[in-house]
Amino acid sequence: MTHAAAPGSVQVAVFDQGEIGLRRIELPDRAPGEFDVDLTAAAICGSDLHTVLGHRSTPPQTALGHEGVGRISAVDPGAVDLRGDPLRVGDRVALSMIRSCGRCDRCRAGLTMKCRSLFKYGHASVTESPYASGTLATRIRVSPGVPVLRIPDRVDDSIMVPAGCATATAAAVVTAAAPVGDETVLIFGAGAVGLYCAAMLAGLGCTVVVRDPSAQRLAMLAGTGAVPDDGAERPYPIVVEASGSPAAFTDALKAVDLGGQVIGAGSVSIDSGTVTFDPALLVTRRIRFSGVHNYTPDEFRLAVDWLTEHGERLDLGRLVSPPQPLTKINDAFALMRTGTYPRVLVRP
Ligand SMILES: [Zn+2]
Ligand SMILES: [Zn+2]
Repeated sequence: MTHAAAPGSVQVAVFDQGEIGLRRIELPDRAPGEFDVDLTAAAICGSDLHTVLGHRSTPPQTALGHEGVGRISAVDPGAVDLRGDPLRVGDRVALSMIRSCGRCDRCRAGLTMKCRSLFKYGHASVTESPYASGTLATRIRVSPGVPVLRIPDRVDDSIMVPAGCATATAAAVVTAAAPVGDETVLIFGAGAVGLYCAAMLAGLGCTVVVRDPSAQRLAMLAGTGAVPDDGAERPYPIVVEASGSPAAFTDALKAVDLGGQVIGAGSVSIDSGTVTFDPALLVTRRIRFSGVHNYTPDEFRLAVDWLTEHGERLDLGRLVSPPQPLTKINDAFALMRTGTYPRVLVRP
């Protein structure tokens, strides 16, 4: 679909007063350092579903979507991507979803995803700068400080589109797990993060077993080297909780081997439930626990590099649905709610 006649006119999927709809907004002139990306693909993520189901508080007129790929349509001379490569009009880029200041105590401690002045795309109002702040749109306005990477044309949108959320989070999990390469890993949850973790860890030489109630989701492991859990007892030095189920969290603590580590990445919405467990499970068995939420710019780069190198061979495009038009955004969200695909692909 081509954009409207007016150059600053953008169509954005907005969540407002319980409804999802398309809104046309007029973008003001770019501030210094900002640049515009005309999206070629976006994906609906589980957290977009949380937003529209009212599981998280959002401002009025929230611009939806934080996973996207597109081409630069306006940029200042001298702009560079995360690698320092020049950014020019027409360049194809993958976008991160977070903007951090790089200067506060948390940024300096490496917790850029928890920056004191953090801005997250896909969760802000179209009434506030940078206005076009969702990827479920014809165009997005990218602020200085948002990690962006140029990507080659040969990698399909369907492979690259989740880079800035699901794949980068998986890269953060793998970084936290720091496997030496031959460990046996148990992963709870075959959603997008669990599936990318499984494929990445298997690629590093780990034996990867995945537990999920859905046979349909587990079938997506085919060809990644990871396998569905067969229920056999094994020592697991690394356990990843990527399902977000509080019950699975307790199961993860029980499944991990003495001296092992549990990485929790699934429980990202507050109030999704509580669990009871014996703290001695962790203490006496010398278990390490790491929480992973979002990612650093380096982990985003790892994700983009991994998708570029392995996405086609592993046929990762099957993790996203066939393309749905932005003009039918409510149908796209309805498809996401069926759970048939880890991600629903939307094209403007
Ligand atoms: Zn997401
Ligand atoms: Zn900061």
